[in-house]
Amino acid sequence: MGSILLLEDDPAIADTVAFALRREGFAVEALGWLAEARERLRTGPAPELLILDIGLPDGRGLDLCRELRAGPLAHLPVIVLSARSDEMDRVLGLELGADDYLAKPFSPRELVARVRALLRRAQAAPPPAPGFNVDGSRVRLDGVLLNLTKLELGLLLKLLAAPQRIHSREALLDAVWGSSADSGDRTVDTHIKTLRAKLREAAPARDPIKTHRGLGYSLEP
Ligand code: CA
Repeated sequence: MGSILLLEDDPAIADTVAFALRREGFAVEALGWLAEARERLRTGPAPELLILDIGLPDGRGLDLCRELRAGPLAHLPVIVLSARSDEMDRVLGLELGADDYLAKPFSPRELVARVRALLRRAQAAPPPAPGFNVDGSRVRLDGVLLNLTKLELGLLLKLLAAPQRIHSREALLDAVWGSSADSGDRTVDTHIKTLRAKLREAAPARDPIKTHRGLGYSLEP
């Protein structure tokens, strides 16, 4: 069962939510401060889902939501809780990248149902990147067989395995070159560049590899 990080400063609500989720077999870690959650997400193992209160004593939960979407946890499912059934909070929450929204007061049963639905959605296979067709080590883009080096193929397969996720240079280096590699970030950039050129040659309009400055690369539809 999934591990859930709960960020809620109201102890009564936190206890009720944690109880309801634990009864259903989820592991719940409850925190009450934004700063604690930032530290926990930065240093600890990633949870499978985050439940995030908007009004916290040291800031707004929505700021954390926005930060997450720009970082390596961009795909962490987030449910936002708001004290008011404020339309603005709802719209902002979803715009800033929350996956779902509940206004207080809510029934713990409803929250558990939303958690389950969101985890199911998150665990479903990622949508395949359009245009690509992979058959072992032969990759076609829009029907054109790509003539890739071993390293370019490794990079592309890694990106294809999780489309729309931002892969850091470090993660790509580890996955493709292995931990023993004495190559630097530049190596990744160099091979991404040649890979991009080959993709562009096969399908000039697509340009599917996106650079995220300071973060890494992703494959976009
Ligand atoms: Ca609160």
